[in-house]
Amino acid sequence: MKKKCAFWIDGKSYEADEGENLVDAALAHQMFIPSLCYHKHLEPPLGTCRTCICKINGKYGPACTEKVHDGLKIEINTPELLDMRKAVVEMMFAEGNHFCPSCEKSGACDLQHMGYELGVATARFPHLFEDRLIDFKAKRMIMEHNRCIKCRRCVEEVFTDEGKRVFMYVNRGNETVVGIDYEQESQLTEAQALHAMKLCPTGAIIVRGESLPRPMGDRVFDNQSVQKDFHSAPIQQMEADPKEKKRVATVSLAGCFGCHMSLLDIDTGILDVAELVSFDKSPLTDIKKFSGRCHLGLVEGGCCNSHNIEVLQNFRKMCDVLVVVGECAVWGGVPAMRNTIPLSECLEEAYLHSLTSETGETIIPYHEDLPKMLDRVYACNEIVRVDYSIPGCPPSAEHIWKAVKSILFGAEFSLLYAEFKYD
Ligand code: SF4
Ligand code: SF4
Repeated sequence: MKKKCAFWIDGKSYEADEGENLVDAALAHQMFIPSLCYHKHLEPPLGTCRTCICKINGKYGPACTEKVHDGLKIEINTPELLDMRKAVVEMMFAEGNHFCPSCEKSGACDLQHMGYELGVATARFPHLFEDRLIDFKAKRMIMEHNRCIKCRRCVEEVFTDEGKRVFMYVNRGNETVVGIDYEQESQLTEAQALHAMKLCPTGAIIVRGESLPRPMGDRVFDNQSVQKDFHSAPIQQMEADPKEKKRVATVSLAGCFGCHMSLLDIDTGILDVAELVSFDKSPLTDIKKFSGRCHLGLVEGGCCNSHNIEVLQNFRKMCDVLVVVGECAVWGGVPAMRNTIPLSECLEEAYLHSLTSETGETIIPYHEDLPKMLDRVYACNEIVRVDYSIPGCPPSAEHIWKAVKSILFGAEFSLLYAEFKYD
């Protein structure tokens, strides 16, 4: 029988088997320590992702590499630690190129799930938009380096029947990437290849022709989350006079108009909204110019050309509170997929070499009256001060209007796990 020991979590004493992994010991007492790379069967643990950072006997360190012993004192849920963990995940999003709505793993991705679990709405770090290789050379798999978090799982867990490694780290430091041994990869069975795709915590390993996406409500983690809702920081509300109709303006910049469609998704609820607010400049009203100052501006889409910048700056000037709605406005979203490619190449692809271009086409349209394309797509907060961000692709109508009512009329705001999404 294993020896028992006493250890402390956040000042309370608990019992566990001596030598038990700290993540498991905490979970046995209903305390969730988030982790992307820890898996019980991997010994020694990888300790690569650092999402499980805790304070262990007064020092910061990963919980997954710690064994429980008598007198161990750990802190796991202080505001500082929660923020550090969130920052680690935000860095992963900002360092890679993660476009969830177009990802084969969306809805079944551990990184995405961790973002939801920790309430990551937007990264506080600038996105690097590095141009990374997508390796198509292997027989069965595609390695999408833009999504790899270098957790090492594939390196340690994917072997051929002869026991040969298929993945390995190549290069060092910041240059480290996961390489594929093409010869060994070709020896994998279809089932082994699919297993590699599934064990990768992101959508970095893709088996040709396979996709694991799941819609909201049916995402792998929808029913397993430890979060039930997120009570965000109290919203700074306006002076609320319920009799006064508030003026709201909306605009769509570099987006697909999906967030506006979502706004309309409240169906007949729009009649209640119309009782409370009047719409000024907006594609919903087709009013082209501000008729006066507005209480609230809702912006969909980021900035991809000079006209977008002009419109956004005008919105900032004319609206007391500016709210950006949806992934494109929050950080660039799907249009920012072009940020890893030089603008000249994007224009050539669009006008000269695309499937719909005339054979031999040589002209890329240009006229001084046309808005100038920017070198990349910019998030709204890179151009103007933004008061609130509502993530989602698109955010649900309920989520948007709940936030709007809370800002304008002081209605209570809480964000349910089921409403929080960016896939
Ligand atoms: S689903 Fe996961 S791997 Fe795919 S883009 Fe989103 S976070 Fe990245
Ligand atoms: S490819 Fe996937 S499993 Fe391998 S290191 Fe990258 S994220 Fe981890």
